[in-house]
Amino acid sequence: MDRLRATDIKYLKGVGPKRAELLASELGIRTCYDLLYHFPSHYVDRSRFYEVRSFSGDMPMVQVRGRFVNFTVQGEGAKMRLVGLFTDGTATMEVVWFKRIKWMRENYRTGVEYVLFGKPSEFSGRWSMVHPEIDTPESVESSCGFRGVYPLTEKLRNRGISSRTIYTMAQTLIASYCRNVTETLPADVVARLRLMSKSDALAAIHSPRNNDELQRARFRLKFEELLCLQLNILGYSRKRSAKMGGFRFTHIGHYFNSFYNQCLPFELTGAQKRVIKEIRADMNSGRQMNRLLQGDVGSGKTLVALMCMLIALDNSTQACMMAPTEILATQHYETISALAAPIGINVKLLTGSTPKKQRDIIHEQLADGSLHILIGTHAVIEDAVQFRNLGFVVIDEQHRFGVAQRARMWKKNTTPPHVLVMTATPIPRTLAMTVYGDLDVSVIDELPPGRKPVVTLLRHENARLDVYRAMTRQLRAGRQVYVVHPLIKENEKVDLRSLEEGYEQICDTFRDFKVAYVHGRMKPSEKDEQMNLFASHKADILVATTVIEVGVNVPNATTMIIENAERFGLSQLHQLRGRVGRGEGQSYCVLMTKSNISKDTRKRLEIMTSTTDGFIVAEADLKLRGPGDLEGTLQSGMAIDLHIANLATDGQIIQLARDEAEAILDADPMLSSDAYRALSKEMRALFAKAVDWGMIS
Ligand code: ADP
Ligand code: MG
Repeated sequence: MDRLRATDIKYLKGVGPKRAELLASELGIRTCYDLLYHFPSHYVDRSRFYEVRSFSGDMPMVQVRGRFVNFTVQGEGAKMRLVGLFTDGTATMEVVWFKRIKWMRENYRTGVEYVLFGKPSEFSGRWSMVHPEIDTPESVESSCGFRGVYPLTEKLRNRGISSRTIYTMAQTLIASYCRNVTETLPADVVARLRLMSKSDALAAIHSPRNNDELQRARFRLKFEELLCLQLNILGYSRKRSAKMGGFRFTHIGHYFNSFYNQCLPFELTGAQKRVIKEIRADMNSGRQMNRLLQGDVGSGKTLVALMCMLIALDNSTQACMMAPTEILATQHYETISALAAPIGINVKLLTGSTPKKQRDIIHEQLADGSLHILIGTHAVIEDAVQFRNLGFVVIDEQHRFGVAQRARMWKKNTTPPHVLVMTATPIPRTLAMTVYGDLDVSVIDELPPGRKPVVTLLRHENARLDVYRAMTRQLRAGRQVYVVHPLIKENEKVDLRSLEEGYEQICDTFRDFKVAYVHGRMKPSEKDEQMNLFASHKADILVATTVIEVGVNVPNATTMIIENAERFGLSQLHQLRGRVGRGEGQSYCVLMTKSNISKDTRKRLEIMTSTTDGFIVAEADLKLRGPGDLEGTLQSGMAIDLHIANLATDGQIIQLARDEAEAILDADPMLSSDAYRALSKEMRALFAKAVDWGMIS
């Protein structure tokens, strides 16, 4: 493998410097290793021959064996073409060339047997093939089976590099090197899981003999990729927790108990209780906790966070909660200070717009320990913010914070504080264990009782008046309404205009009601002013962009209209929809679209109308769009390029790889024994460029 990684592709027979340059610039193939790992996107079946007699309209690329009867040149100038009449003994067809006519004429003869490979097409009762691949029967024999078709670019095609060229290069490489590829996986794993050997898998992935062999090759290669990824993630988190002791929060005391007995506004759900228990146990383990708390929108994560903070206070430490936006931080501050004030807890808010004077007080109280809970935005990470003894950190809506920021919080104390990361993005477990791989996961899988599922409707533009009528009924009943518009960077100008138009239309239509208006481009103070109008019910309607996506809590808002719903991703629609259905009343979410949406778009949006379960929505979204952003988070953390595995769809293999990685690290944490020598070498090569997050902690 090392040799392949070190060998420039230009030295491979049939490549040379010119092609090497093209391969590098177009496909990123620089070394022989890169070529070996440039896997086909699909395969063509060269294992069987078809009869011309049995051709039908919907055939893929097929292979026929026969002879040319004659060749004629037809047309003139640019329209000139060569037509060969071809028979396989069952019927005849025409074979047509528009280019390289002279060369074809000189190199192929009548009466000689050839194997043609191409797509049959029918024109007024006659079958033909345009520019098929032509082989001699002998050369076909040796490559009997499936053959890889490779992703290409237009430029490569124009420069005469076809999928076939790449195939031939790969075959040359495999013939000369592949038998020498060392097995990276431990022998007992290969035997127990009945895996194909590495060299066989790499050969088979380019030209499998049959479908079964292809599936086994794919499985083996995916497994190895995911195993390396899991070993890296787990190895990192084990190293860190071995190095870092954590606070031991041994007791539950005054704060927790008096809150539980006197201030708890409602009975905790079963899921909230379970999760608090999990977190409690983790904070008493002697290791630093790094835990992800997943719970659908409205599942009551804030209350869980607060109760865990109280445990931290009971153990003579301070707590800090960080939110991604000023609005959210403020909202958390209001909720938590209202809940915690009666038992004498000092809570303060710190954001970018906190005045200097207030800031100084906060710094002082943090240092002398009289401030118990600090809530804020990114501002709390700044070095100037120093705690007397920070024991517990909550990070809300994790996807906006990276691993690096989390690590900065660990450093705020000599003993690193326990960290609870909360997210409403419900991602499947196997993906969570990879993206947030170094975190333990707790899940709140139950909503507070009495919630009525939000009724979701799909409506076209032509039903707008009906929608407005329904909206009026809600407003008359004293309810509030969100109207959400898309705003994406590439389209910003157009979007802002349609947002403004939308706002004016709403003001015009609903003259008896007060309308607030908010988008991400406003100054924070203006934004807050508008949000507060809505939150305090001084405004009845809020026209907004997705700035309201996370966390905003106005239980009296029962209706949400989402304009141009087709432009949002499903997970985003789900987050938005989570803003309604927070109180007692029946809530509605109306997805507005233009009238001519495609069948696929309709299907996608109908997932929203058919379920309110965030996990179902997230899985559908993942299948449709791939891991996207989430993979981005991973990449910036501790990732490798995945050549073949897919985090969205290979959940089962991820789980298997995870289990094997755990077992391997249990047996040999440093991978230092002989059995793991090749694996550990491969890991070093793969992760040479990745950031070592261990350095930060
Ligand atoms: P999220 O998980 O989306 O952050 P919140 O913590 O904002 O959810 O909670 C959503 C709403 O549910 C809040 O109004 C909160 O007061 C309420 N809530 C939380 N826990 C319970 C419970 N056990 N019973 C009833 N209502 C609850
Ligand atoms: Mg929340």
